[in-house]
Amino acid sequence: MRLGVLCSGGDAPGMNACLRSVVRAAASDGHDVIGIRRGYEGLMNADFFDSELGVGKMSPRSVSHILERGGTILNSSRCPAFATPEGLKVAADALDRAGVDALIPIGGDGTFRGAVALAEHWKGQIIGCPGTIDNDLLGTDATIGFSTAVATAVDCIDKLRDTAESHERLFLVEVMGRHSGHLALATALAASAEIACVPEEIVDAVAIAARVQELRSLGKQSIIIVVAEGDEQGGAVALNEKLSLADCPYATRTVILGHIQRGGSPTAEDRVLATRLGDFAVRSIVDGATGMMAGETCGHCCLVPLEDTFSTHRPLPEHQIELLDRMSC
Ligand code: ADP
Repeated sequence: MRLGVLCSGGDAPGMNACLRSVVRAAASDGHDVIGIRRGYEGLMNADFFDSELGVGKMSPRSVSHILERGGTILNSSRCPAFATPEGLKVAADALDRAGVDALIPIGGDGTFRGAVALAEHWKGQIIGCPGTIDNDLLGTDATIGFSTAVATAVDCIDKLRDTAESHERLFLVEVMGRHSGHLALATALAASAEIACVPEEIVDAVAIAARVQELRSLGKQSIIIVVAEGDEQGGAVALNEKLSLADCPYATRTVILGHIQRGGSPTAEDRVLATRLGDFAVRSIVDGATGMMAGETCGHCCLVPLEDTFSTHRPLPEHQIELLDRMSC
């Protein structure tokens, strides 16, 4: 068989580890892998990875020592032109011309929406691997990149806490996650933040200010509020303005962590997850599966229809919201 692999949408630590796994699992089973550069944009332009085996072909050696590297050696992109009937036909033709039997897109919900749309124009098999720091896909306990992004944000907040304590300040720290609060909540718990503001919970600034007053009266020297970028309050800067109007008992500072959360060497957890899912995606293709995401739940690899991964909002673990509250007394 000939497999195509690409990384698409926002990059995530562990995409390289997943790519390496796909290439080596395929090679060990006697299959070819064509590396497609720059996501769906590269697919439309037949922009293939070059190696010693020739244009497109990825050998086990071409993925040596990439497991520990953040980002993706295939590059990624966002490509609105792909999401049109014409773009999808161009992409399907490119896959047929390259003799690709099956495609493994590594990415998030947008990438999987694109894969579902592509399946209407292309007869080959498609198995997606979840590569996003947002952890917003259903059907897998964690997405590739989530563990590393949480670890990075926690490391930053640990440093901010030093200053917050020394100067008795309140820091509002904005984290990524788009419409989802998973990254914010896990970060808040692991960094011992007092409050998390997430899109799934509508809490107004007055209630947050009242909670801050309460925490001050409990003797807290410093406060960390983790704010998801997609939060109702409009992010950390907007919430800071609202808090200052509500007579906040601390001097406040805002920090937007931004793209720093997307980079860096993947954690061991992300490396293992990416390696398992890349290998499982290849084995699933060989077994004839298509239209699925390779996920891991309760320690077991599983296949979930691609549509099911993004058609419902992945709920936050309620008990973790309550746990954060209990821990901040
Ligand atoms: P992520 O995969 O990280 O969520 P994006 O949301 O940016 O990233 O999506 C990546 C790419 O997937 C987009 O640039 C576009 O080419 C494609 N895509 C997203 N949504 C759709 C859709 N509804 N139909 C077809 N293609 C889509």
